[in-house]
Formats: sequence, C-alpha cells, structure tokens
Amino acid sequence: MNYRHIYHAGNFADVMKHALLAWLIAYLGRKETPFRLIDTHAGIGLYDLDADEAQRTGEADGGVGLIETPFSPAIEEALAPYRAALAAVRARYGARAYPGSPAIARELLRRQDRGVFVELHPADADVLAVRFNSVANLKVLHLDGWTALSSLIPPKEKRGLVLIDPPFEKAGELDRLVERMLAAARKWPTGVYVGWYPIKYPKEIDRAAAGFADLARPALRLELTIDRPGPEPRLVGCGLFVINPPYTLAETAGRLLPALAERLGREGRGGSRIEAIGAAGEGRS
Ligand code: SAM
Repeated sequence: MNYRHIYHAGNFADVMKHALLAWLIAYLGRKETPFRLIDTHAGIGLYDLDADEAQRTGEADGGVGLIETPFSPAIEEALAPYRAALAAVRARYGARAYPGSPAIARELLRRQDRGVFVELHPADADVLAVRFNSVANLKVLHLDGWTALSSLIPPKEKRGLVLIDPPFEKAGELDRLVERMLAAARKWPTGVYVGWYPIKYPKEIDRAAAGFADLARPALRLELTIDRPGPEPRLVGCGLFVINPPYTLAETAGRLLPALAERLGREGRGGSRIEAIGAAGEGRS
C-alpha cells in the first residue's frame, strides 16, 4: 500500500469528486428520514496543504487553489455544499486545512444520519479513528474496503450513499470498480453509488462504462478533464460512475463541470462529459 493521498489532496480530482460528493450529501439531507453514508476507501479524512508532501507536488495549487474566486451565481449554487464544508473545516482546523471525504461527511451529515469510514492502511485507519470515532454518528473501520462494501450493505436505513474511491495502484482496478458497483446495486438497490476513476486512456473508460449498459437502474458517467490525452499515459482527468443518481444530478453536473473545466483546464484544454450509461436513463426522483 504505497498510495498516500496527502500528495494529491485538494487537486483538480479532489475538487471534482468532493464538490459532487458534498452536493449529493446535501441532496439526501433534503428529506427528513435518516440515511447512511459508506466511504470504502476513506484515507485520513483531513489534510494540511502546508505539509511537506503536499508542498512537494503543489497539486492543490492547480485544484482548490484555483477556485477561491467565486464563479457565477448558478455555479456557486451547485458548489454551495462543498464551499460550506471547506469553510467549516477551515474554521475548525485553520486556513490551510483541506477536507477529505470523511471530513466533508462529518460537516454535512445531520444528527440522524450515520457515516462509516473504511480504511485498510493501519496507520491511516488509526489517524481516522482518532479524528472521527468520538463523533456520535460516525464509525471508523480498519478493513478492506471491497469486503466492507458487501458486508455493510444493505444498512438498516433505506436511503444511503456509497463512495468507492480506491487508489488505482493495481491492474484491473477499473474493472473491479464496475463489477463491485453492479454487485452492490443488486444487493442494495436503493443506495446511491459513486465510484471514482482516473482518466489516462479514454478508451479504457469507454470499455468500462459499457459494463453499465444492461443495468436496469439509472446511471451516469461524469468526467472532468484538464488536458488532452497524449501518447504517453498520464493523468488528464477523472470521473465518477454514479448508480441511482438523483434526477437533478445530471443537470447540476452539466452546469458545474464545464465551469470547473474552464477554470482548472490547462491553457484552455479542459473538458467535461455528462452521459447516461444505464438502461434506465439518467436519474430518479
Ligand atoms: N476517499 C478519500 C477522499 O476523498 O478524501 C481518498 C481516498 S484515497 C484515493 C484511497 C485510500 O484507499 C488510501 O487512503 C489507501 O490507503 C486506501 N486503501 C487502499 N487499498 C484499500 C483497501 N483495499 N481497502 C480500504 N482502503 C484502501
């Protein structure tokens, strides 16, 4: 387990993932009934952008560092939950703190909701436990996220959100992501599933996305690219597969992602994609 998220905290991929994650949590919070959030690859939950590792890559400068200036009101509306989580974390831990998915969940879940954060790296799981286990409605588990995904669903709540955000260190991770998302949706059909992936070879993503074609539930493929792919493999973007997206997610992403592409893209080479990939269209109410 070599992947350390501190090197990438607050980069363009985090901005995309966290802005949509925060929007989804806020969306689920519009109904009074409780919901469950399951984060299968949680990391340490909170990052210091002044830490040596973060400074060494400077990736946050090309991510969260570029969105401090407000966008138009329509974009800010879509970004509002993410901005609220960022502000709360900065107020709690200082101006250079950056929230990982667990800290975003901590700020946006309500008292009646529950969050479960799973992390396999022993030291990271310890840090996560110290940070979040004392919060009444949060629980940290030191486990393999893929095993946890199937053992934690269905939860007792009918509604919920599962974030699957693996490090993509191993070959076959993209296929595994699609397979496990589909299996989870069979086991707990009412959950909303969000699976993150990096974009190096767009064709590989097309092939993986085809795996959702027979899914009898709505599903989306949402992407942000900051550069065009070249002959050498390099990270040019990232995406989220979403099963059971709320029906307004496609419209929201259609507003937000082009604006992020314009702001975060390298010399005008940013792009975005919003596509229905399941057999049942793009969203549900
Ligand atoms: N979700 C986090 C966020 O948005 O702030 C970032 C997660 S980072 C991309 C991936 C994490 O998965 C790393 O902290 C890594 O230690 C952890 N990890 C790697 N393999 C794992 C596994 N099999 N089960 C659970 N966690 C794993």
